[in-house]
Amino acid sequence: MKSVVRKLKKRMRRQSPPPMPKIVEVDYKWASPLSYTLKPTMIVYHHTAEDNLTPQRIDELHKARGWSGIGYHFYIRKDGTIYRGRPENAIGAHAPSVNSKALGIALEGNFNEEFVTKEQEDSLIALSKYLVNKYNIKDIKRHKDVTNTECPGKNFPFKEIKAELKL
Ligand SMILES: [Zn+2]
Repeated sequence: MKSVVRKLKKRMRRQSPPPMPKIVEVDYKWASPLSYTLKPTMIVYHHTAEDNLTPQRIDELHKARGWSGIGYHFYIRKDGTIYRGRPENAIGAHAPSVNSKALGIALEGNFNEEFVTKEQEDSLIALSKYLVNKYNIKDIKRHKDVTNTECPGKNFPFKEIKAELKL
């Protein structure tokens, strides 16, 4: 009897969708209107290449490039905190060739020189699982897979993320 209950519980766990991780909302003031036409079919991973960046600072830096504001949809700091960037239905500014179809997730750090923290990796996996399920996404990429760049760095744990997502 006990083993039947255990099996049922296991099956329920398998069928329940991945929970939405905690996402800290940020009140951005867009410099120009966003295009709310994104139906994401891809996720692209980035690093910031710099430490000690708040999401507000990234927003300023991206505005200085003439963009509406922060170009990523999510930003994960070293402590694992996930911040909202652009809304999920707004076209991002992070990988020009695929912005029309891709959500952009950036991690704080330079992963050519350092490693993703355990907290960052846990948050990244939870967020990716949630988004992959929500939008039925089959395609995840590193920035360097779609553009000539080193982003997100050689130490970015792409294989591990892919294995976790079964993609
Ligand atoms: Zn990038």
